[in-house]
Amino acid sequence: MKSVFFSLLLLITASCNTSNDNGVKLKAWMNPNGKVKVLSTIAMIDDLVKQIGKEHIDSAVLIKGDLNPHSYQLVKGDDEKFAYADLIFANGLGLEHGPSLHAYLSKSKKATLLGNLIMEENKQLLLYHKGQLDPHIWMDAAIWMKTIPIIVKALSEKDPNHAQEYEKNGNQLIAILEDVDKNIRAILHAIPPNKRFLITSHDAFNYFTRSYLAESNETNEEWVQRFMAPEGLAPDSQISTANIQAIIDHLKKHEIHVLFPESNVNKDSIRKIVDAAQKQGLRVTISDAYLYADAMGKLGSEGDTYIKMITHNAKTIASHLNMQ
Ligand SMILES: [Zn+2]
Repeated sequence: MKSVFFSLLLLITASCNTSNDNGVKLKAWMNPNGKVKVLSTIAMIDDLVKQIGKEHIDSAVLIKGDLNPHSYQLVKGDDEKFAYADLIFANGLGLEHGPSLHAYLSKSKKATLLGNLIMEENKQLLLYHKGQLDPHIWMDAAIWMKTIPIIVKALSEKDPNHAQEYEKNGNQLIAILEDVDKNIRAILHAIPPNKRFLITSHDAFNYFTRSYLAESNETNEEWVQRFMAPEGLAPDSQISTANIQAIIDHLKKHEIHVLFPESNVNKDSIRKIVDAAQKQGLRVTISDAYLYADAMGKLGSEGDTYIKMITHNAKTIASHLNMQ
């Protein structure tokens, strides 16, 4: 009886600690200490911000863990975070389209919509999918590194005393991402072009496909064939029989034998396709490793930084496509 009581006590204490950890971190972030307080909507932005701001900033993420950035709605306490932040960075390009978050970002003077600013200068780099702007620009490291000078500028304006350091850190990070970009392309181009076809849960890999799976001379009409997903630009769990058959036809046409789940998206639609395809006699499976699309991995996982997540994606795709 006593041991049950103590086990219960331990369990309660452990769960309190977990919820306290977030509370403590947030409390520390909200403690005035002379540092620039930066709030980023998604972890992929926060990861760059940390490496540029280093010890001169305190950073926090709004949309944590596996939550879906496309549909995130403000919760209790978010207003407080917005009020406390000196700077807010968001992806923009329609990613954060949950009505309450979208409304806040579009009116806040503190918010910098990184993707929208990239679009002003580099309209030709942006992709549209079925007439809708594709927000998943972090999937192409060469585009994602264009957010760095924007972050450097915003931090430097807020904290001019450390502007030189922000610029130095930003330039170092750009050099690292240039290497990552080349490295990922090399990993994927080690696979023959006729095997470089990708199917995942939702349409998050268009930029990735154009940059890393396509041959350099392919037209838009050609490289779009290399990527297909049952769910749209935002995961919605909706999949029709016609949709399933369209993907099965695509599997047959390009002799694709593996589908990739995403870390923060329900596998149901992928499962339905594989079940239906197997019933039609196709040899097709779900990859045992998932890809990171709209969320980074947990601390300690293979996807707990931006560079690790995109490199993990490249290696996972390459090894599974090679085996098929
Ligand atoms: Zn997405």
